[in-house]
Amino acid sequence: MNKRIEKSIQFLWILTLNMVVVFILVGCGANSSERASANEVKNGQSNTEGIVRSASTVVKDSKTNRVITSQDSFQIGTYIKISIYSDKEVPAIQFDRIFEEIDQFEKLISKNITTSEVSMINENAGKAPVKVSSDIFELIQMGIQYGEISSGGFDISIGPLVDLWGIGSEGAHVPTESEIQEALSKIDYRNILLNETDQTVFLKEEGMSLDLGAIAKGYIADQVKTLIQEEGHQSAIINLGGNVLTVGHKPNSEAWSIGVRDPKGENKDIVGILKLQDNSIVSSGTYERFFVEDGKRYHHILNPKTGYPEENHLQSVSIISEKSVVGDALSTTVFVMGLQAGYAYVESLDQVDALFIMEDGSIYGTSGTKSVFSLTNNNYNLKEFVFSTK
Ligand code: FAD
Ligand code: MG
Repeated sequence: MNKRIEKSIQFLWILTLNMVVVFILVGCGANSSERASANEVKNGQSNTEGIVRSASTVVKDSKTNRVITSQDSFQIGTYIKISIYSDKEVPAIQFDRIFEEIDQFEKLISKNITTSEVSMINENAGKAPVKVSSDIFELIQMGIQYGEISSGGFDISIGPLVDLWGIGSEGAHVPTESEIQEALSKIDYRNILLNETDQTVFLKEEGMSLDLGAIAKGYIADQVKTLIQEEGHQSAIINLGGNVLTVGHKPNSEAWSIGVRDPKGENKDIVGILKLQDNSIVSSGTYERFFVEDGKRYHHILNPKTGYPEENHLQSVSIISEKSVVGDALSTTVFVMGLQAGYAYVESLDQVDALFIMEDGSIYGTSGTKSVFSLTNNNYNLKEFVFSTK
């Protein structure tokens, strides 16, 4: 099938699925009669070539007495929704700029695009340093930092292992032990050599490859927030495939209500609500990308020491932070650390909080979540975390 058509069908399917979800997730307060019907959708259609996206949906929100203009797209392999609160409909050209910015980042970061800077770095592994743009340099620098923080539990040089498992692609399968060992021998964030003066990145060993999938969505979300603020908006919600970043608070000064996904439920099911403002919430979990082989489930968060999906009784970790790049990196890092080490680490950080959802339905929240999280799902129990003495 033509790739563009395939992408569009996938987008429409996900759009249908998420129309309900996002409404619940962001709790935008518009009552059903005010929500745009198909006929009311105004045509703010794009002139952004090649980006699969919707026209503007314009809704009058009775609670805040503002107009919410939203657009959706399918980019960076995920469903994206941007909702901006304003006095009047936000012109389509402003959304054009946002989706073009995301597109530019995809073209720099995606491993699937052969001309991206990340692909160039990977292609030149063991051969030559590659000059990169300041954004990519900064992103890789941050990725290495989280490698250090987690002693390699988080490792952006995980590319060979991600490619081997193929989780999220049609070729997903359990590799052989020798294939895993071979991939592991190529993974070590300490072999990513950065030259700040020349702005180059060099992967020391041939066969190494970077995968920024665990950190890039957060970075892109932060850049989109800056752009929205530069366009003069003070209230908005950015949702990059579940990476939710809020701009300011709601125009009526209320915090945003963000639903935390139920890892065992359907797409629209939540475990509870977080009340946030000017914050990011990012989740990493076993439910996002996985496959089943011989009755066993294999998810996409891999342990770079063992070579297998991390199994530590966690179902998901959600990180609340100011910057979405921090939340994205930490959600994956803390997932690999596990409950005990992860909880202690997050508690040691200023202005970062976490919710841990365990396989048995227990939920543990760090101290800052107590005043902002409310449980709404009877299948789960909010528990007090006890530090292990072992
Ligand atoms: P996170 O927990 O944030 O990250 C998990 C991902 O990070 C894994 O999927 C793996 O890629 C990597 N990872 C696994 N274990 C570790 C570890 N221990 N340390 C560090 N990293 C780890 N998806 C598509 O299907 N098609 C696309 O064309 C596509 N293009 C993309 C382009 C860009 C620029 C980006 C940023 C992402 C793209 N994706 C695409 C999605 C991507 O492959 C990941 O699935 C996604 O970024 C994972 O995000 P997450 O929030 O679900 O999970
Ligand atoms: Mg992440």
